[in-house]
Amino acid sequence: MTAKRAFNFGAGPAAMPLEVLERIKSELSDYHGLGMSIMEMSHRSKTFEAVSERAAARFKKLTGLSEDFAILFLHGGATQQFSQIPMNFFEAGRPVDMVHSGHWTERAMKEMKPVAEVRVIASSEGKKFRELPLFSETDISDRASYLHYCSNNTIFGSQFKKFVFKKNVPTVIDMSSDVLSRNFAYNDFDLIFAGAQKNVGPSGLCVVAIRKSWAERGREDLAPFFQYRNQIQARSLYNTPNTFGIYMADLVFEWIENQGGIPAIEKRNEEKAALLYSHIDESSLFSGPVKKEDRSLMNVVFELQSPNPELEKKFLNEAESVGLIGLKGHRIAGGFRASIYNAVSKEAVVRLVEFMKDFAKKSK
Ligand code: PMP
Repeated sequence: MTAKRAFNFGAGPAAMPLEVLERIKSELSDYHGLGMSIMEMSHRSKTFEAVSERAAARFKKLTGLSEDFAILFLHGGATQQFSQIPMNFFEAGRPVDMVHSGHWTERAMKEMKPVAEVRVIASSEGKKFRELPLFSETDISDRASYLHYCSNNTIFGSQFKKFVFKKNVPTVIDMSSDVLSRNFAYNDFDLIFAGAQKNVGPSGLCVVAIRKSWAERGREDLAPFFQYRNQIQARSLYNTPNTFGIYMADLVFEWIENQGGIPAIEKRNEEKAALLYSHIDESSLFSGPVKKEDRSLMNVVFELQSPNPELEKKFLNEAESVGLIGLKGHRIAGGFRASIYNAVSKEAVVRLVEFMKDFAKKSK
């Protein structure tokens, strides 16, 4: 019997590639003839170490990150990075410069507050985060401990295409919801982090790519666990890591390679997003609130042209009844959101567009 698979548009934990899930199923109780699952073996075993090394090497190859970077698989999701980064790199009197583009930079600032001073250098809060904040290099202080971006705003549906940097100011980027989804100048940043549960693997795991020379400059008076240098030295095995998560990440990276790498994935992501946005733009029922140039290829936010809570509910219920799951917008943004991460097929998007067309016709 083939398994039932929903068309899953959830924002995260999100759809994972079916091929990867099937592979895990086939290897679950007996990994490569060893008589145990990957979860049941020592993280210090040769077998697991090879998985972890391979996952890091694949991530590096897919992203084109240079030898200057270490790839880490850490605990605590993306949220732990919000405070771990300033714990390592904030210097008194040198505020962190923040580009405030949505909920996840708000959350980052909340987590940073006990350990760092933060200066918002640009914000689109006044525009309800329906566009990206505008600023230039002169807005970034040359004394900033570092600059913080969120590349893709999962909740509000906007995504940076271009970045502004300042010479000698390290740049950090939260790529939780668009890592490995597009061609990207990964080497321009000093620390990239991404919670796994959208384009990488199970939640709880966080992929961190850090410039080794910057890690060395971090504070040494922190608990050793939180110092990136120790995690680098231990190759993500400082303590018992999320072994299952790393194993799955490796399989997802392999799946991306088999799809043709990031260029092929990006092309498909662009096609999926174009299908959906062009329908939203021509629809008589729906509209897209995000400024066109700033729209996200990963989280497509849309709403009814005239607010109607009853009709909204009806749309979600009917969608669910035909297997289109996870379309409710985040509670702070309202409306609808279709998250179309790497593992969401073009077929799923075609089905969604057909459903939206039929629904609009019926609702006239
Ligand atoms: N940053 C962004 C952009 C996110 O979308 C999320 C989760 N949706 C987070 C951070 C937080 O991730 P986690 O729950 O893994 O800590």
